[in-house]
Amino acid sequence: MNATVKPSRLIKGATGDWETVIGLEVHAQVTSNSKLFSGASTAFGGDPNSHVSLVDAAMPGMLPVINEECVRQAVRTGLGLNAKINLRSVFDRKNYFYPDSPQGYQISQYLSPVVGEGEVVLELDGGRTATVGIERLHLEQDAGKLLHDRSPSLSYVDLNRCGVALMEIVSKPDIRDAEQAKAYVTKLRSILRYLGTCDGDMEKGSLRADVNVSVRRPGGPLGTRCEIKNMNSISFIGDAIEYEARRQIEIIEDGGVIDQETRLYDPGKGETRSMRSKEEAHDYRYFPDPDLLPLEFSEAWVAEIRAGLPELPDQKKARFIADFGLSPYDASVLVAERESADFYEAVLAGLADRSRDGKLAANWVINELFGRLNKEGRDITASPVSAEQLSAIVDLIGEGTISGKIAKDLFEIVWTEGGDPRALVEARGMKQVTDPGAIEKVVDDIIAANPDKVAQVRAKPQLAGWFVGQVMKSSGGKANPQAVNHLLKSKLGI
Ligand code: ADP
Ligand code: MG
Repeated sequence: MNATVKPSRLIKGATGDWETVIGLEVHAQVTSNSKLFSGASTAFGGDPNSHVSLVDAAMPGMLPVINEECVRQAVRTGLGLNAKINLRSVFDRKNYFYPDSPQGYQISQYLSPVVGEGEVVLELDGGRTATVGIERLHLEQDAGKLLHDRSPSLSYVDLNRCGVALMEIVSKPDIRDAEQAKAYVTKLRSILRYLGTCDGDMEKGSLRADVNVSVRRPGGPLGTRCEIKNMNSISFIGDAIEYEARRQIEIIEDGGVIDQETRLYDPGKGETRSMRSKEEAHDYRYFPDPDLLPLEFSEAWVAEIRAGLPELPDQKKARFIADFGLSPYDASVLVAERESADFYEAVLAGLADRSRDGKLAANWVINELFGRLNKEGRDITASPVSAEQLSAIVDLIGEGTISGKIAKDLFEIVWTEGGDPRALVEARGMKQVTDPGAIEKVVDDIIAANPDKVAQVRAKPQLAGWFVGQVMKSSGGKANPQAVNHLLKSKLGI
């Protein structure tokens, strides 16, 4: 277990506190044009059985040929998870019969996986982090799909997915509650998407998780786990864990024991139910696949792949914090998705003075832009305000041409009407008034018109805010706030 993972949210039972222990097996479809051992296409949504080679259909005498691109993607993923790359690994046959797998076995990796131990840093609420250990990552074939709803008396099989490359990424039982489990899948998905090794599309089944859950007294020995199979939604993973932990606690507190079993989550009912017990578990009779040689890499090949990795979310986050003084929370919001990090970087690239306004730009991307996009249910890639336009707005604030308040109006105009922010400021007279003479006139007028307030503020200088507000109002929000403050202080003698 990893020491940086603090026991988080405990569950109160009738007999005291319980801790949930969770380990995930994530199946991630490798981004590759062809399958793991055949040249058939991996494209989604083709007609049933239109992407099936003789190898996938397991015709007699067909031999698998390893797809080097899939191996490279698995190694890249391992490096992205800070994991040990095993220079020698072996493909095994996992023997079982099911009609969606014509081979009668799945080619997988058992004792010698391509990737060994690694870790993933979770981003939790309020900028907290936790580290989850990775046990291993191995390559294996996906199965086909049975269709039971086409005929009252027959089942059909679609082998399009059969033989598609999956990476099974197995975590250590380091996860302690539903929030962490969701953060784990979110972060893993983000790393895969940055790397381009899996598209992370859970709706299409490119990323699925088996969720192992047990409960124990805080810090006590591990309890018996149940495995909830094939989850393809992050929020359902959270709901399933909450339900399952309480179910197990109730059983134990009633004097029962947990049977190690495989369960399914029913999102409609919000419950898990038994699928098969340990007694029904298969004996897979693993053995090395005689049709395939072990995978062997040189250190130099791995080093070359490492050198070609893109900047990953953790590194990007650290750089944003160091270079622009962002808070860890803001930095994690920006790097969570590759698209939002790219957008922020494009805004940075357009700034006149990055070191001065990098942090201001982050605030604008997160608060104004993301806020507005969320409100309208839009994606960053469909933002009506471009990175270039946002850079211009931030420049205008940073150089003192417009106030933050006017900038919000300008943002609104750019969002709805488009246009060049700098030209809009000129054309619509939105420039901040910094000319001391012009501001002084407004200040003098307000002081002269409010002798009672002047007396109050002299007695109680905290009330100066009222004057600032009046000056801003009568200048249409265009007076420079620093200049206003400075003038008011000297005129009022406070
Ligand atoms: P199997 O291959 O039989 O499913 P593994 O040892 O590979 O078994 O473990 C599968 C997953 O179960 C891993 O993610 C691991 O972290 C998790 N796990 C193991 N023991 C427990 C436990 N007591 N409670 C919760 N999760 C566990
Ligand atoms: Mg398992």
